[in-house]
Amino acid sequence: MKRREFIKNASLTGVGLAVGNSLVGCDETKSKPINEANKTVIADSKRLPLVIATWHVKEATAKAMEVLQAGGNALDAVEQGCMVEEANEKGQSVGKGGLPDRDGNVTLDACIMDKHGNCGSVVYLQNITHAVSVARKVMEETPHVMLAGEGAKQFAISSGFEPEDLLTEASKEAWEKWKVEAKYKPIINIENHDTIGMLAIDKNGDISGACTTSGLAYKMGGRVGDSPIIGSGLFVDNEIGACVATGLGEEVVKTVGSFLVVELMRQGKSPQEACEEAINRIVTKPNSNFKDFQVGYIAVNKKGETGSYSIHQWFSMTKFQDGVNEQIQSDYYNKS
Ligand code: ASP
Repeated sequence: MKRREFIKNASLTGVGLAVGNSLVGCDETKSKPINEANKTVIADSKRLPLVIATWHVKEATAKAMEVLQAGGNALDAVEQGCMVEEANEKGQSVGKGGLPDRDGNVTLDACIMDKHGNCGSVVYLQNITHAVSVARKVMEETPHVMLAGEGAKQFAISSGFEPEDLLTEASKEAWEKWKVEAKYKPIINIENHDTIGMLAIDKNGDISGACTTSGLAYKMGGRVGDSPIIGSGLFVDNEIGACVATGLGEEVVKTVGSFLVVELMRQGKSPQEACEEAINRIVTKPNSNFKDFQVGYIAVNKKGETGSYSIHQWFSMTKFQDGVNEQIQSDYYNKS
């Protein structure tokens, strides 16, 4: 079943719960700069670890939580969580089985960022399922942050990744159908894009994040979205918090969305308020055509408070904390 159908069919928890689940009452800290609050308020270790992810990906968050509960760090957790979706051929927006570009090529974008601010990313990667793991290798084993295209693929192969055909029968069929009309315009709430982004805080209170995607379905050959661009698709600052984006990457890039959310949290906003402000920056631009596209953000701060917000309905976050792995429906801007 497609991810958005899951969302519509699932029983959804209101966004109020996401806010109500905060570790520390928002009221007390909202007015203070968060870095000041951090001096006295540290995440409640009883409620750590925690993991959140974009969309409805309970198996992925369960995997990440398994890593965290076993004492693993947040970096291992987000990598292994994202790998679950990359290997899931039924998910047509990530890894193997991802929908191709307009020429029938499946091209992946991914990135990862650790508690030290180290990061790695791959763009336009072909024939390798676990793009997030290649991104981690770029971070850990090269002097670079980003590898693209053939160079990224050759690096992956030389690092031991097996090349394979990522275009499954189902995705090929969907592409053949799309070619009949070949409309390029993304349609909201039609399964044509959906990044898996994941943020985790481990038992030590350290934060890491990752995201992985096959990008906008039927995109132009060579198109790269926000997901592998540090600061746009993902940003982690272990002092403050982290954010990851999904939706139309071009709009996220134009506002450097994830960095913006983290900076807003640095200035004292809660994760929920910061996500809302970042969406506002998009929809209030002069001549914004936001009715035609979706963007969603999820965020966590150092205290373990979380937030999520999108332009349109049906965006959700999966959150695993305190033994509860749940899908939380996001609040959204466009209620008209
Ligand atoms: N942000 C991704 C991109 O634009 C796609 C998505 O999350 O839906 O490539």
